[in-house]
Amino acid sequence: MLQLDVGAIKKAPGDFGPFNLSAELPPFELRGEYLGFLGPVKASLIVSNVDSALVVEGEVSGGLKLNCGRCLEPYDYFFHVPFKETYAQAAQDSEGEVVTFSGDILDIAPEVLNSIILSLPMKALCSEDCRGLCPRCGCNLNESRCDCSDDETDPRLSVLKKLLKGTNQ
Ligand SMILES: [Zn+2]
Ligand SMILES: [Zn+2]
Repeated sequence: MLQLDVGAIKKAPGDFGPFNLSAELPPFELRGEYLGFLGPVKASLIVSNVDSALVVEGEVSGGLKLNCGRCLEPYDYFFHVPFKETYAQAAQDSEGEVVTFSGDILDIAPEVLNSIILSLPMKALCSEDCRGLCPRCGCNLNESRCDCSDDETDPRLSVLKKLLKGTNQ
């Protein structure tokens, strides 16, 4: 779990301290697909008590199994993203873009997940020059060659291809 014990720091205005976490996060759903992590997600953070709120800032890194939008094969995607979020105690008046919390434990998993999702490519590709699938026979052109010609497309397969593409958008 990505949780910070902020019991001490929240009582000390102006104070700050480092937090290094490593946690397993469950798979999550994105645009109809379930994406799983390759291992623990790591977070290197500094928590500062500023103006009676807690500013959590640092970096989050890890890996995800994504499906290539062209050849549809799963591949390993690694991320290293900046993280910054302001947390205010629930009882206090807070203005602007802050997340509220109560007690001594700050669970930052929702915001960490959000920053990972925002960093994902619009179209996942296993490699920039992935050749994708043959529109006629459906074979993976990265792994094999087929005898299909490019200019003759079987209309039934092109419908299938569109459907397959649609699920990966
Ligand atoms: Zn690919
Ligand atoms: Zn083919």
